[in-house]
Amino acid sequence: MAERPAGELTIERLQACCAHWQRVLRLLDWEIRLAIVRMNDLGEGTLGDCWIAGLKQQAKIRMLDTRDVEGQAFMFDGDAWDWEITIVHELLHLRLSERDLGLKADDKDPRWIALERTIDILAKAFLQLGRWSHGAEPG
Ligand SMILES: [Zn+2]
Repeated sequence: MAERPAGELTIERLQACCAHWQRVLRLLDWEIRLAIVRMNDLGEGTLGDCWIAGLKQQAKIRMLDTRDVEGQAFMFDGDAWDWEITIVHELLHLRLSERDLGLKADDKDPRWIALERTIDILAKAFLQLGRWSHGAEPG
């Protein structure tokens, strides 16, 4: 997965990466505010989150500072992770927000878990495809 990790997370890299994936996912009409925050703000086990005002097409995405990633237990671990997966994941939440019928984040709701798993798989697939098309070997 991480043949080409996105590198250290900085706000400049995050903005460039977000703009790229906004183009790919056709989210250019969204106004997205980005922030890099520490684990105390997000809660343990969370790599990022998003706040969506769908009618206004506005969103705020918060990303976990990579200094806090080491040693955390995540819901879908086992795969190598880098922060680009998380920004694609959060943008897919925006993309799907018209279709999730107001489903609220709830780790005990099987519908929410199914949505999270689907988004997780799609985010990794999009990244893998992007990296293959830039010359990384399918692995
Ligand atoms: Zn999610």
